[in-house]
Amino acid sequence: MVYEGVIYRPPSEADSLLVQVTIGCSWNKCTFCSMYKEKQYRIRSMEEIMADLREAERYRGRFRRIFLCDGDALALPTSFLAKILEDIAQRFPGIDGVRVYASARDVLQKGTEDMRTLGGLGLDMAYIGLESGSDKVLSAVNKGITKQEMIDAAAVLRNAGIKQSISVISGLGGEELSEEHILETADALNKMQPEYLGLLVLHEGEDVGLYYVNEEKGLRVPSSRQVLTEMRLLVERLELENCFFTSAHVSNYFYVKGRLSREKQKILAQIDSVYSELR
Ligand code: SF4
Repeated sequence: MVYEGVIYRPPSEADSLLVQVTIGCSWNKCTFCSMYKEKQYRIRSMEEIMADLREAERYRGRFRRIFLCDGDALALPTSFLAKILEDIAQRFPGIDGVRVYASARDVLQKGTEDMRTLGGLGLDMAYIGLESGSDKVLSAVNKGITKQEMIDAAAVLRNAGIKQSISVISGLGGEELSEEHILETADALNKMQPEYLGLLVLHEGEDVGLYYVNEEKGLRVPSSRQVLTEMRLLVERLELENCFFTSAHVSNYFYVKGRLSREKQKILAQIDSVYSELR
């Protein structure tokens, strides 16, 4: 397998085969994100990708899923991605699914029909950074998308039968927009109804490889109190029917997880317990 530069994948894809189909992120402009700043975006050639998949056959049986890297594999043309998925289905029959990082922009550009085609070929989940439901925050961090577009993209995925794993970043609105950030985020998520929700925390330095503080762009590390307050308010406001919530990402101060429809009170009690230790 050939990998170029640092490779990122969601915590839940730790056991998946990682196949790099693009280098970097086609957007690469979010002020808080350091993941692909060193990479010039390009699509790997079909020959390179096929060579990796051929080589991966020797590891057959040692992974249940395949994750297509880098930052937004859905930026690939539908026919190109379909060819990769067809090849995967032939070489690795019986795997549980293929997953990607995706931007809502790519989902909307593809539309329901293309997404349904990709879903039918094995793409079973898209990891999308909502980051915030507040348009003020999204604009400030140059996410290049609005709350409504995020909600629309979620509807496309749902109609195409593709699961959504959504991430949100605590601290992204600073202290001034903290409440608006969380209330608008909860509202967006309640309309999106993702199957998975991951909380991340704006972090100092690039050691977690992902979200980092950028003083020049007005991003500062939130205090632990702010993070816990935001986490509590978010969980309290969420009305998600079938969503597994986790703070498993390495940027978090503590780990909590649970199915929101039946474990919300348990999660809130855990947050309260950590908060009480801060007093
Ligand atoms: S957060 Fe996602 S869309 Fe934004 S620059 Fe990073 S990888 Fe690209």
